[in-house]
Amino acid sequence: MSETIIDIKNAVVSYRENVALQGVSLRVKAGEFVGIIGPNGAGKTTLLTVVNGLGRLLSGQVKVLGHRLVPGNGRSLRKKVGYVAQVQNIDPRMPMNVREVVMIGRYGRLGLLSRPGGRDWEVVDEMLELVGMSHLARRPIGHLSGGEQQRVAIARCLAQEPELFLLDEPTASLDWKAQTDILELVREVHEARTLTTLFVTHDLGCLPVACDRVVLMKAGQIWGEGRPADLLTSENLSHLYDMPVAEVEKRRAENIPV
Ligand code: ATP
Repeated sequence: MSETIIDIKNAVVSYRENVALQGVSLRVKAGEFVGIIGPNGAGKTTLLTVVNGLGRLLSGQVKVLGHRLVPGNGRSLRKKVGYVAQVQNIDPRMPMNVREVVMIGRYGRLGLLSRPGGRDWEVVDEMLELVGMSHLARRPIGHLSGGEQQRVAIARCLAQEPELFLLDEPTASLDWKAQTDILELVREVHEARTLTTLFVTHDLGCLPVACDRVVLMKAGQIWGEGRPADLLTSENLSHLYDMPVAEVEKRRAENIPV
């Protein structure tokens, strides 16, 4: 049996008067690939902030990779947690190439004032190879497509050598082909690096292929969890998104995010 590496009990998180998580409990075992879906504002990103030690817990208990989280002690945990967000707008004039950007992932281990050594560059090149970006290693970071940028973001995250891999809508704003490619890459990386992965997405088409388990969130709570095939029925999605079943089915047929 794999060990539980994320154990969240009754987490309550609020931003001033706005309660974003209302008593969320979740356990994740080492090696699992968990998809998290739900409407805008459901609390998905906030749940990730709790896992990476940045969430402000009002109450509840959180243990991640053996660290019990209390305010201010998330730093050592974050070295072990890789995070990839949505495609960012990068200024085309940004004076860094792809290889240098991936090196940023090493600084958590190196410390900001240390110079990277041969081993660090080896890791960077290995990760660029893994994400299929070696041929663009010297290109300025601002001269990449959205899909290429996400590959670099994944390589940067892996260069950190994380144990936990958090992705917050990494395929948002990419075209369908790039979305599928990135998802396949994330799954491959998950297996190749024996990671534990939490993947927030609005792209339901991808989940059954990639995830071992899905967590459905609504209004700051976990509304359901289980195997994708059991949970991602049109009826469940209709309840989750307050949308008629026919509309859910139309969107799924046309591959439009719900
Ligand atoms: P989306 O799919 O739109 O990204 P989400 O499910 O990730 O949404 P969260 O971003 O976790 O949802 O937000 C949950 C709630 O907390 C929302 O009501 C949001 O407005 C609120 N919230 C999130 N971040 C902040 C913040 N920094 N300050 C105040 N309120 C916030």
